[in-house]
Amino acid sequence: MAGTALRGRLTWQIAKVTAVAVETASVRTITLDVPGWPGHQAGQHVDIRLTDEDGYVAERSYSIASAPGEPVAITVERLDDGEVSPYLTDELRAGDDLELRGPIGGYFVWEPDDGGPLLLLAGGSGVVPLRSILRHRERTRSNVPVRLLYASRTLDDVIYRGELDQPAVGVEVVYTLTRHQPPGWTGYARRVDAALLAEVAWAAGVMPLAYACGPTSFVEAVSQVLVHSSYPPERVKTERFGTAGGT
Ligand SMILES: Cc1cc2nc3c(=O)[nH]c(=O)nc-3n(C[C@H](O)[C@H](O)[C@H](O)COP(=O)(O)OP(=O)(O)OC[C@H]3O[C@@H](n4cnc5c(N)ncnc54)[C@H](O)[C@@H]3O)c2cc1C
Repeated sequence: MAGTALRGRLTWQIAKVTAVAVETASVRTITLDVPGWPGHQAGQHVDIRLTDEDGYVAERSYSIASAPGEPVAITVERLDDGEVSPYLTDELRAGDDLELRGPIGGYFVWEPDDGGPLLLLAGGSGVVPLRSILRHRERTRSNVPVRLLYASRTLDDVIYRGELDQPAVGVEVVYTLTRHQPPGWTGYARRVDAALLAEVAWAAGVMPLAYACGPTSFVEAVSQVLVHSSYPPERVKTERFGTAGGT
């Protein structure tokens, strides 16, 4: 039984694109109909495989943006010089087929039984799996307190802004805009460092379960800060997107 489930998860299959939504100028959310989808956990990802006419194959991983129980969705940021993301953000349309496998990953996940409080740390598109966690918390009516610290270059680069500007009860969203701030901006305006984390973290003695996700440089920086502040390693989960950091 377990073997069947494992084989099923890791088999490439064809999904149908049901919708492509504009999140920001460079980010799209792609909703998929995946036949026989076994369900996923908040924080997991899928692998996407593109094959061109010459048989050249490119594979990339994308976090699942939707909560367990919702249709599978991924949110992709276009890297202008990238191989795969420009196709997904600019070319793909509802009705197209897309090859994927998943769900993948059993470490960077959250279930209500894991408890909280939660300190979610996002750099750029690293907010994607954290959004799945937020939606899962809401759908399961969990009341664990959550703080999301989300670093973006500018306000226009904030993904899911409509949702995040109206957080559920018990969820606080703290933005930091690292490159440009609109007139009258009252949020943070610097890169995430020890001082900023200290301001956003809970009072002394409260050790939230921390999830940090984004470009490798962002995740390295925030996990170094947490380690140096004697954070228990088992309370910190990290997911590196591998892309060059810009936040
Ligand atoms: C677990 C996981 C989850 C992820 N989730 C998401 C997500 O939810 N959303 C999202 O947008 N991304 C996500 N990513 C990142 C994603 O997998 C891709 O890395 C990203 O979309 C870029 O792919 P690309 O093919 O467009 O760019 P690539 O072609 O891979 O290029 C990426 C960058 O590397 C540079 N580069 C490429 N080759 C070289 C080289 N030989 N020498 C020097 N530089 C080079 C490029 O110039 C570009 O800037 C995730 C990654 C992981 C591992």
